[in-house]
Amino acid sequence: ESKQLGKNRLQFFDPVMQETVTARLRLEDEIRLGLERDEFVVFYQPQVRDGQGIVSAEALVRWRHPGRGFVPPVQFVPVAERAGLMPQLGRAVMDAALAQLSEWSRAPATSHLSVAINISAAQLYQDGFAESVLDALKRTGAPPTQVMLELTESILLGDIEGAIAVMQTLRSHGVRFSIDDFGTGYSSLGYLQHLPISELKIDRTFVRDLPDNESNIAIVRAVVGLASAIGLSVIAEGVETEEQRASLAAHGCHVFQGYLFARPLPADEFAQLLQDGARADA
Ligand code: C2E
Ligand code: MG
Ligand code: MG
Ligand code: MG
Repeated sequence: ESKQLGKNRLQFFDPVMQETVTARLRLEDEIRLGLERDEFVVFYQPQVRDGQGIVSAEALVRWRHPGRGFVPPVQFVPVAERAGLMPQLGRAVMDAALAQLSEWSRAPATSHLSVAINISAAQLYQDGFAESVLDALKRTGAPPTQVMLELTESILLGDIEGAIAVMQTLRSHGVRFSIDDFGTGYSSLGYLQHLPISELKIDRTFVRDLPDNESNIAIVRAVVGLASAIGLSVIAEGVETEEQRASLAAHGCHVFQGYLFARPLPADEFAQLLQDGARADA
C-alpha cells in the first residue's frame, strides 16, 4: 500500500502533470481577476423563425482577456466550474443579459425579443438559484415571460426533484426552460413530461449532415413529433446552410439558430442587424 502511495506521489511530481496543474491554477486566478475587472461580456446570436425574422437571442459569454483577446467559453467555463466560480460567473452573465433584455424590451424595434441564457447544472443546483434569478429580474426590470433558461440533460444526473421545484418556482413567474443540445445526453424520454419545459433545442450534431443523412432526418422528425405530442416548441442549433434550413423546415422545425443567419454578436451589432432586417423587409 505504501508503494501505491509512493507511486501516486511520484505521479504528482510528474513534470507534465505539474505543468497542467500550474496552468489550471493560473487560469483560475485569471478568471477571478477577470471577474473583478468585469472582463466577461455577453454576445448575442439571433434565433430566427420562418416568416417572422429574429424572434430571440441566445446570450453567449465571452472573456475579453487583456492579453489573449476574446476567449471562447470552452476554454474557461469548465475551469470555472471546477474552481467553484460558476455562481459568480453565472451571476455576471445573468445580470448582463437581463439588463440588456430590459433595455430591448423598452424600445419598439426590439420589444418582442426573448433572451435565452445558458445555465449549467451546477448553477441550477446551487442554493438560492431561483431567488437569485428573481432578484436579478426585479433589479433589471426585465420581463420574465421573455426569459428562456437553457439547461442540458446533465441536470438529470442530480437531485431532479429539487431541480423541478426550482424550475416550477421560476416558471410560476413566467420564466421558460429549454433543453439545450437535445439528444446528446442522458435522454430517457419519460422524464420530459415531468419537467416544466417549453422547448427542445436540437443539437447541431443532428443538423450538420442534413439533408443527406437519413438517420439524422429520422432524429429530427422524432424530436419534432415528440415535442408536438407534449406541447413543446423546437429550435435547431448550428444551422449553417440554406439546405440545412430547408430540410429542417420540411421536417417540421421552423425556428433556427446558426451561422447561416449570424454569428454571436456584441449587443449593439445585434440591434443593428435587427434594424437592417426590418428595413430590408419594408
Ligand atoms: P451552446 O449553448 O450549445 O451554444 C451554441 C454554441 O454553438 C455557441 O458556441 C455558438 O457560438 C456556436 N454556434 C452557433 N451557431 C453555430 C453554427 O452555425 N455552427 C457552429 N459550428 N457553431 C455554432 P460558444 O459561444 O463557443 O459556446 C459554447 C458553449 O459554452 C455553449 O454551447 C454553452 O454550453 C456554453 N456557454 C456559453 N455561454 C455560457 C454561459 O453564459 N453560461 C454557461 N453555463 N455556459 C455557457
Ligand atoms: Mg445554449
Ligand atoms: Mg446548444
Ligand atoms: Mg451545443
